Amino acid sequence: MNKSNSRKILLLPGDGIGPEVVREVKKILEWFNKNKSLDFSFEEELIGGASIDANKIPITDEVFFKSLQSDAVILGACGGPKWDNLEFSKKPERALLKLRKELKLFANLRPAICFKQLVDSSSLKPEIVSGLDIMIVRELTGGIYFGEPRGIEPIENNQRKGINTHTYTTNEIHRIAKVAFDLAKKRSNKVTSCEKSNVMEAGVLWREEVQIVKDKDYKSVELNHMLADNCAMQLLRNPKQFDVILADNLFGDMLSDEAAMLTGSLGLLPSASLGAKDKNGKIRSLYEPVHGSAPDIAGKNMANPIATILSLSMALRYSLNLDKEADQLDLAVQKVLDDGLRTKDIISKGKKEVTTTDMGDAIISKLK
Ligand code: NAD
Repeated sequence: MNKSNSRKILLLPGDGIGPEVVREVKKILEWFNKNKSLDFSFEEELIGGASIDANKIPITDEVFFKSLQSDAVILGACGGPKWDNLEFSKKPERALLKLRKELKLFANLRPAICFKQLVDSSSLKPEIVSGLDIMIVRELTGGIYFGEPRGIEPIENNQRKGINTHTYTTNEIHRIAKVAFDLAKKRSNKVTSCEKSNVMEAGVLWREEVQIVKDKDYKSVELNHMLADNCAMQLLRNPKQFDVILADNLFGDMLSDEAAMLTGSLGLLPSASLGAKDKNGKIRSLYEPVHGSAPDIAGKNMANPIATILSLSMALRYSLNLDKEADQLDLAVQKVLDDGLRTKDIISKGKKEVTTTDMGDAIISKLK
């Protein structure tokens, strides 16, 4: 067999249901190694509470450096009640913030896909969400969450003032816009860029610079500008008008949560966070389900592994250049849902309830 595609993947299962869902990803990687001309080398390391218990810190330097050397990092989840009383700087979630910051992951990709088989899980009418397939591209390292000055300060008359600063530079806007345009080219070739250019100068700059990127390098991609509040409304009114939605950190945070909820369950939502290309052309990246460690169901083999499996699919597509395998995996998930298999979080009348392990096995059986 010609094993021409050697790729290094770092698995960070973390806490709660993290190890259970990442175990299913590991099985899929093993399947690809055994049955395809692929050569994934994967290692598993501790992160979050599991690392605190073993090493007293949420992520060791060794694990951090391994993440730098990997082609893709796949994370389960960090945190749980056991570590809730630790001070903020020592909490399990700090590991995740460190990874996002140090890997300079400026682009957060959150697909909102409504599987036709699960259309009843959405709070919207089936005809509005069935077949929905949106990609939200959120800027992750700039804007009002990071801008200076910030703080709370006393003012006259015993009052206080809270300050946050919304700033974006040309370069920050250009690099995230390029991510959105590149993605659109792989999808339906349409970007909707959101801001509040009617009331914010930073919004005017955002709109102008996104347009400049489009006019210069992406003439074939359709670009629409939309005010972010209108986009929030349109997502509920007619979400299928969108392909790629581009937004800054603040608006992207809200719009991606809104879009995610159109689809029904938390157990189905993957995400990717991407950084810049290094000098070898490698993109730093972190893939994780949107959900947390779900302590209420941890250890019971009932977590839905699909969000993490679809995060692997995103890694195949965006970091490992394996679009065909990503399509194959997405299709396998669809087929299992077609067969009526459901974990407890998405069960409905007439469907068969299965465990985490069963769901992973069923998806693998559809890869064959
Ligand atoms: P959560 O996402 O862990 O759980 C919310 C609800 O959704 C729970 O009822 C849970 O059982 C259910 N759920 C989540 N994922 C599921 C899955 N795959 N299958 C079936 N059901 C699923 O959110 P939370 O309860 O607010 O947080 C729990 C812990 O996770 C906290 O410590 C929090 O800080 C942490 N957290 C971590 C991340 C991360 O690592 N990226 C993200 C969010 C929360």
